[in-house]
Amino acid sequence: MQWEVVVGLEVHAQLSTRSKMFSAASTAYGAAPNTQACAVDIALPGVLPVANRGAVERAIKFGLAVGGAINRRSVFARKNYFYPDLPKGYQISQYEIPVVSRGSVVIQVGEREKTIRLTRAHLEEDAGKSLHEDFHGMTGIDLNRAGTPLLEIVSEPEMRGSAEAVAYAKALHSLVRYLDICDGNMQEGSFRCDANVSVRPLGSDQLGTRCEIKNLNSFRFLERAIEFEAARQIAVLEDGGVIRQETRLYDSDKDETRSMRSKEEAHDYRYFPDPDLLPLQISDAWVAEVYATLPELPQAKRERFVAEFGLSAYDAGVLTASREMADYFEAVVKALGGEPKLCANWVMGDLSGILNKEGLAIGESRIGSARLAGLLRRIVDGTISGKIAKEVFEAMWGGVGEADAIIDAKGLRQISDASEIENILDQIIAANPSQVAEYRAGKDKLFGFFVGQAMKATKGKANPAQVNEILKRKLAG
Ligand code: ADP
Ligand code: MG
Repeated sequence: MQWEVVVGLEVHAQLSTRSKMFSAASTAYGAAPNTQACAVDIALPGVLPVANRGAVERAIKFGLAVGGAINRRSVFARKNYFYPDLPKGYQISQYEIPVVSRGSVVIQVGEREKTIRLTRAHLEEDAGKSLHEDFHGMTGIDLNRAGTPLLEIVSEPEMRGSAEAVAYAKALHSLVRYLDICDGNMQEGSFRCDANVSVRPLGSDQLGTRCEIKNLNSFRFLERAIEFEAARQIAVLEDGGVIRQETRLYDSDKDETRSMRSKEEAHDYRYFPDPDLLPLQISDAWVAEVYATLPELPQAKRERFVAEFGLSAYDAGVLTASREMADYFEAVVKALGGEPKLCANWVMGDLSGILNKEGLAIGESRIGSARLAGLLRRIVDGTISGKIAKEVFEAMWGGVGEADAIIDAKGLRQISDASEIENILDQIIAANPSQVAEYRAGKDKLFGFFVGQAMKATKGKANPAQVNEILKRKLAG
């Protein structure tokens, strides 16, 4: 039997406001425990929550970017459950009427595109943190995170397998950073996913029973957790068993998912409108104001890069994954006055390679866009070959200086003088009579041998195009 894996994701994006969803306490990460939790966050009696305008604005921005409906009136609701790090005994969330309904995101899997629909996006507050380490068998509670604003983005169950789920999570991650509404820091938990996974016989139009895997905070874990969970469910079903709807956790050390608890139903939470908060009213004027601040979005940029620069969909996708990378690439093309394919290759190749190796963001690059353009200009005008350029790039990265200075100091200028190249080739031809005879007798691949000899003789500095052309002529006899 063939199985189909079905995934729906709930993504929690921490909104980048300075203060919390319903209080003025700071949201800065990494402060000493319980120093950023005020009376509202720790639920002292008599306090009242006040909704954070900046958080609402960010939710509107997101809703507009995904083409969703911005509900002009939405309602905050209490979601009741007991947990030691939830001092109120309920979480303020949105239930029946969220701030954003519907919308969609286009994902890219290789060269293929697919549209994933969103169900909703709603505002809520985060809980505190229970710390089980270093307390001699006791648990510590840090309420700094209590009340931090979250946008929970819920997709329809439209991903088929882990690759689409990861592509979707990456597309959302890229989008919230473009919009500058979330810093996207996954290690710090600012962007995390719950994956709902089910399987069904291929061709069936009914959904199987889902399990929900909580709090996946890397794309790799998301992929692994879905893979493991789908295989587990298939094994259970093929064995004649049934899947129970439950909440599971992913253990990255063991690379497996384990049951945490049977899944609560919505009615278990006894949702009701929070009497402390008025319904959230959003005016048309406010929506229009936010609309005017939208930047060019990843999908539009991707399409423009294909149309304007003639890049492949794949290259355009890589270059527009972050706004910083896209801006850097465009700045190089502008400084160089063209040659987008060459620029794309260098930004995605040598530059990204060294940034990854050193764990740097593109904004921290030791070679800015103007300096890289300075190097590429010398490839374009034939001063150096692409191969020598790699050597110059490394020296530039090492802080030696600008491309031109390095080329001069190291004597790397390409030999493009035709008579000089002819001389060198004449010597090589004279020194290798048997290879010349074999080549002329039809052994075409010996051509590479002569090119290699020419490069060796010139320490890689001979202009490759000229070597090819002159060599062809001379070998033809
Ligand atoms: P809950 O809070 O109970 O998890 P939500 O409505 O917030 O409910 O989220 C449900 C998520 O589960 C959605 O992303 C939805 O697409 C997904 N989902 C629902 N049914 C299935 C299913 N059978 N298989 C996979 N995903 C599913
Ligand atoms: Mg859920």
